[in-house]
Amino acid sequence: SKKIIIVGGVGGGATVAAQIRRTNKTAEILVLERNGYVSFANCGMPYYLGGTITDRQKLIYPEEKFAQKYDLTVQTHANVTKINREQKSVVYEKYKTEHKADYDILILSPGASPVLPDIAGLQQSNTFPLRTIEDMDNIEQFIQSNNPQSAAIIGGGFIGLEMAESLCHRGFSCSLVDRSEHVLKRIDKEMAIHIDEHLQEKGIALYVNDGLKSFSDNGTTLHLSSDKTIQADMTIMAIGIKPNTELAIDAGLEIGETGGIKVNQYMQTTDPTIFALGDAVEVTDFITREPAHIALAWPAHRQAFIISSFLSGNPISDDGIIGSSILRVFDLTVAATGQNKQTLIDNEIAFEETIMKGYSHAAYYPGSKELWMQIVYDKNTGQLFGGSVIGFDGADKRMAVLATAIKGKLTVADLASLELGYSPIYSGAKDPLNILGYKAMEQLED
Ligand code: FAD
Repeated sequence: SKKIIIVGGVGGGATVAAQIRRTNKTAEILVLERNGYVSFANCGMPYYLGGTITDRQKLIYPEEKFAQKYDLTVQTHANVTKINREQKSVVYEKYKTEHKADYDILILSPGASPVLPDIAGLQQSNTFPLRTIEDMDNIEQFIQSNNPQSAAIIGGGFIGLEMAESLCHRGFSCSLVDRSEHVLKRIDKEMAIHIDEHLQEKGIALYVNDGLKSFSDNGTTLHLSSDKTIQADMTIMAIGIKPNTELAIDAGLEIGETGGIKVNQYMQTTDPTIFALGDAVEVTDFITREPAHIALAWPAHRQAFIISSFLSGNPISDDGIIGSSILRVFDLTVAATGQNKQTLIDNEIAFEETIMKGYSHAAYYPGSKELWMQIVYDKNTGQLFGGSVIGFDGADKRMAVLATAIKGKLTVADLASLELGYSPIYSGAKDPLNILGYKAMEQLED
């Protein structure tokens, strides 16, 4: 039977293992994971630290159960240090002992690592990244033993914002520092402004256009580029991630211009017996067809399906990623899909933009709340390139419809003609998305 080795046992690795087992009952599957946990719910970690998820076990899939359910071998604390492509084997280290394992097919899902800048005065005892269960446990342990009252979060991306919300929920006084003009680079400025405002309303001390320069006082005073200082008992470092490509580089596999492992439409690296997926790979953007690096759970799961389809002899090719994303920031839902203005400008693609404020449902029915929406689309054909939706209610649904429309290559006229279902509790007789479509059609006629 075929020997399949998977490096990395979480988002992409665990999923591809399970997916392959569905169609291949005989392959010998070995999952090698350098940390202590496989198939854990990384996306839930901020909510455990915030106290909403109270049972740590709910985030963790026991190793033995996982191995048994999918009839495979799991090795945790197994750090893969080398790929021998000629011999088709990998070397891994477990508790300081070196092991070798042979493969017919090798699948790399090593993820990415948080960027931890070399900042003067940084104390590892109170400055933490959040990527693994071990990181989460370190933070929780620090909180339990030191009873900190204040936290600084460096980086206003997804993880930074989720941690700001979570720690605030737990009673911390929080400062958030971002070097850009506004939080969430994914969202254009005109829309992101609503997030910044909301963060301030919720009592977060927000420092934008600013960066962390150094720490003093045992890591509890943070000095910013603007010369402002922040006092914080603990700091969460969430300034970004870097794909884990050392193994691939060492093995001579090609790395793309975005820094991710280069793969074809079947997730095959430049060695046809080695596949790669997840945060470590470079993907193709669905709209621009340009290389992109999109570190989200959906692509990892889709890529797992693409690999298992290929291995089972029914190849389905990847048609590009649009990068739909969603997160909650206190009472707001912030959702985006496809391109934004900035990425279109960077790619020199001509576009038109329509932006409006609507309401989640009929204004006369209680609970109706503002809903800010933006779309960007082809200046000539009206084909949708992307959009973002921010609001207190119903933002998730509007973004999901936009994502579907982008994938279906629909135009703004199509958006106006979608029948999305109406009752005053859920929408208007014209859904806000229909109105957005009509507005965009008018703009194109001008
Ligand atoms: P991972 O899931 O990180 O798995 C990679 C694994 O490979 C790691 O466990 C690592 O230890 C192991 N590894 C690396 N190198 C080696 C080696 N040499 N030998 C052995 N093992 C190795 N995405 C969303 O879409 N929505 C969300 O809400 C969301 N929330 C998130 C919240 C947090 C706090 C984090 C950290 C991520 C979140 N993500 C979210 C991102 C999502 O979790 C990732 O995109 C997804 O897990 C990627 O899967 P992966 O397999 O590439 O990487």
